[in-house]
Amino acid sequence: MAFDTLITNGIVVTATDTYPADVAISDGKITALGQGLPRENTTRIIDAKGKYVMPGGIDVHTHLDMPFGGTNSADDFETGTRAAAFGGTTTLIDFAIQYKDQSLRTAFDTWMQKASSKATTDYAFHCIITDLPNARLDEMNEMVREGVPSFKLFMAYPGVFMLDDATIFKAMRTAAKIGGMICMHAENGGAIDVIVQQALAEGKTAPKYHALTRPTTAEAEATARAIALAEMAGAPVYIVHLSCNDALEKVREGRDRGLPVYAETCPQYLYLSLDDMDKPGFEGAKYVFTPPLREKWHQEKLWNGLKQDHLQVVSTDHCPFCFKEQKEMGKDDFTKIPNGGPGIEHRMSLIYSGGVGKGRFSVNRFVELVSTTPAKLFGLYPRKGTIAVGSDADLVVFDPDREHTISAKTHHMRVDYSMFEGIKVKGMPDVVMSRGRVLVQGEQFHGKPGQGNFLKRATYTGV
Ligand SMILES: [Zn+2]
Repeated sequence: MAFDTLITNGIVVTATDTYPADVAISDGKITALGQGLPRENTTRIIDAKGKYVMPGGIDVHTHLDMPFGGTNSADDFETGTRAAAFGGTTTLIDFAIQYKDQSLRTAFDTWMQKASSKATTDYAFHCIITDLPNARLDEMNEMVREGVPSFKLFMAYPGVFMLDDATIFKAMRTAAKIGGMICMHAENGGAIDVIVQQALAEGKTAPKYHALTRPTTAEAEATARAIALAEMAGAPVYIVHLSCNDALEKVREGRDRGLPVYAETCPQYLYLSLDDMDKPGFEGAKYVFTPPLREKWHQEKLWNGLKQDHLQVVSTDHCPFCFKEQKEMGKDDFTKIPNGGPGIEHRMSLIYSGGVGKGRFSVNRFVELVSTTPAKLFGLYPRKGTIAVGSDADLVVFDPDREHTISAKTHHMRVDYSMFEGIKVKGMPDVVMSRGRVLVQGEQFHGKPGQGNFLKRATYTGV
C-alpha cells in the first residue's frame, strides 16, 4: 500500500469524534485512517504532531465579484478563495444573482464565468431570485438539475431584491416539491424604508444611521413570517446572517415545534456591536452591512444559540468593499455606502477562539458549525464536511496553540481594512489541503487559479 500523502501524528476531529490517527490520501480522496499506517513509498509526509486534523471549512455565504450600488465587491474568485484557504476554508457557496427579466440560467452562467477560471478552492452556488413570474417557477427545477438546489430570497431592499409574500410562498411550494432549500434574507424591507426616508429627511446621514434605521424587530418579524410561510408551504427554510436575539427566538420556537428551520450567524455579529459604528469620522462605514450590528448584549445570546443548536451554521457573508473610494461613495448619505464587510479569512480562527477557546462549546461542535452541518444542509455531505474514507481530502492541520493578531497589514483579502483589526485569536491553520493538494503551508500559497471545481450539490434531505 502506498499513498500520495500521509498526515501523521495528528488528532483527527470530526463533528462526532476526536481520536489519534494518521490520514492517508490518494487521488484527492481520503483512502485510509488509522494509527501507524505504512509509510513506504508515500510521496509526502506531513507531521501533525500536537495538532488537530479537521475537515476543510465550508463557508456557505460569500459574495465574490458581486455588483452592488455601482461598484463590485473587492475580492474576485481568485483573491477570495485564496484568502479563504489561508483561513482554513476549502469550499465556498457563493450567490448567482438573477436580475429582472433574466432567466435563472443566465444568473448561473454569469457566475460560472466569474468563478471557473479563477477559483483556487472548490465552489458552488445558491441562486438569488429577484423576479419570479409563474412562467419561471419551472426554472427552479432546472437549477436543481444543474446542482443548484438552494435559492435565496429577500424580504428587504424594496424595488431591488425584495419579493412579495405571494411570490415567496410560491417559490417555497416549488422548493418543497423539488427538494430545494430556501435561504431567506429576513428583514421587513417596507417598514425599514419608511424609517430610512424619515432619517434622511431629518438630515441623519452618518454611517451609524444605517444600523439605527434597521431595528431588531424588523428582523424578528420577517424571520417569523418566513417560518410561517415555509410551514404553510411544507418547505425547509434557512435564515441567513441572523444578527439578534429577537430573530433567534423565532428560530428557536420554530425548531421547538419540529419544523425544518435552520439559521446561520456570522463572526461580525459575535464579535462586533453598535459601539463600533461610533468610531470617529467616517470610520463607522467599515461596519455598514445588513443586517446591521446590534447592541453588545446580543453577542452572548448568539454564542449560546450556537452552543444549544438553535443556530446551526457560522458563515461570513463576506462582501468586501474598500474604505477608500468604495465605502466613501456614501460619505454624505449612509444609504449610498456599499453594504458588506470582509470576513472570509478569519471565520475558523474567530469561532475556534471564541467558541472552543472560551469554553463555550467543544471542538467537535466547532467542526459541526463550520463544516459538517453546512455540508449536510447544502447537499455536499459526505463528499465534504467530514474525515472519512472516500471523502474528498479537503483537510486542515490546525494548530490550537498558535496565536495571531488580525490586521489588514497581514490579511490576504483584497481590501484595505479589517473589521476585526487588533483582535487576538488562538488557533490557526498550518496546512490546508483541497482534494489532496496543499493550498497553504504556513505563509506559502501553492494553489493556482482555475484549480477549484464547481460542485454539483444534491437536493435537501434533512440533517
Ligand atoms: Zn449576503
